[in-house]
Amino acid sequence: MPSSVPRVAVLGVSSSPFSGIEVERHLDLATLGAGAAYDVVLLDLPGARAGEALRSLRMDRRYRFSLIYCCQDQDSWCAALGDGAPPPDLGALAPLWRLWRERFGVFSHGAAPERFEARVLAWLWLRPHGAVRAVRDASVAQHYRYPLLEALEDDETPNAFAWLQLMTQQGWLEAAELLDRVRLCVSCGSGRLNYVDVCPECQALEIARQPSLHCFTCGHVGPQEHFLKDGLLLCPNCLSRLRHIGSDYDRPLENYRCRGCQAFFVDADVEARCLDCGHAHVPDKLRVREVRNYRLAEAGRLRCRQGYTANAVDTDRFGQLNLLSHKSFHDLLNWQLQLVRRYKQPAFSLLGLRFVNLAATIGELGELRGHALVDSLVERLQEAVRDTDRCSRVSEEILWVMMPHTDAAGLAVVRQRLAQGAERLASEQIGRLQLRQVGFTAPADLLEQEDAALLLARLNGELG
Ligand SMILES: [Zn+2]
Ligand SMILES: [Zn+2]
Ligand SMILES: [Zn+2]
Repeated sequence: MPSSVPRVAVLGVSSSPFSGIEVERHLDLATLGAGAAYDVVLLDLPGARAGEALRSLRMDRRYRFSLIYCCQDQDSWCAALGDGAPPPDLGALAPLWRLWRERFGVFSHGAAPERFEARVLAWLWLRPHGAVRAVRDASVAQHYRYPLLEALEDDETPNAFAWLQLMTQQGWLEAAELLDRVRLCVSCGSGRLNYVDVCPECQALEIARQPSLHCFTCGHVGPQEHFLKDGLLLCPNCLSRLRHIGSDYDRPLENYRCRGCQAFFVDADVEARCLDCGHAHVPDKLRVREVRNYRLAEAGRLRCRQGYTANAVDTDRFGQLNLLSHKSFHDLLNWQLQLVRRYKQPAFSLLGLRFVNLAATIGELGELRGHALVDSLVERLQEAVRDTDRCSRVSEEILWVMMPHTDAAGLAVVRQRLAQGAERLASEQIGRLQLRQVGFTAPADLLEQEDAALLLARLNGELG
């Protein structure tokens, strides 16, 4: 029987005693790594050293996903790779670790995830506030890096920014805090750029601010020093004496001069010169990139909860139904219930569908035929569901469809259509797949005091 108390290691010379749980102390990473892996590690080190230790531990397959807390201050690497500060009462580590272990068991059925994508999702899912955090680092050409992605990458080396964008588009991750906006060279992608003022006429670098004067008599514009003669102001062109600014002369706006082509100009052009590849770019043409942290999105969480690998197939296929997250669906349903309680009409209906044995059937069919099955299922659903309906998939087998402005008769039509579709599927001989339905129409079927959560729980019971 697995122990319910985690084995806890402390790394570092401890200043404070640890109470509430038994710990084993280690002075350095070498002795910590020598024995059997611990369940939880406490880093009793100053921020920067804790960050380094975390980096080494996350690269070690045994500590990749483990709970690792930083007892002293934390730097940005600690925040990106660690689990924050330990709970004040270390006794609380045990339930935290049990929850972690339970989740690890669900994900890929306890096996360590094999693919990079799975590793990142697993890491995030195993911790309640997990995020892929960007860390500023002046030594890298893009100015920011994602330590977690680097630690989990093994031999795959995806471009972090492109990969995060792809994962966001696919709905597994969602963008969190915006940290910065950087501009990158379009030729080589480097962010090490030098912005220089250049002559707008000949692009020469050799320009200088030069106070100049404008003679009103002849219109001549020239450097101020050319107008100075024996302590007086004289126009070098028409030789008029310039006494009063505003009536005899003024200062033109053009007060930059190019030493190459002698042009006078008001504003210099700005050029972004890449310090890595040497190309010069107009600043507007640089690639702009937002630097953000990322979190697990609802769909990603659902995918992890379902056991990552088995359901990669159908989760993204069902995405074609414009699924709402669990929470959005609840909110929408609560709102519909409030409306119908107050105004009695229009009626709306809710349909619960359960695809019994879906995962098992996909498993039996293999990936290709499994894909085809889910595709045809989704197609049948698309025939039945209208643009104005909203769906939510709360578990691998159950799909909820909310149909505004639909009374009992309307619901019956949809149910019949779905039943026919299911029959057709059954006749195509696809294993033990069965479709169960439950319908609800408000206000007729509405119980007193019932909100979205209670209603869904009641109907869920009927789906078996
Ligand atoms: Zn010039
Ligand atoms: Zn003049
Ligand atoms: Zn460049």
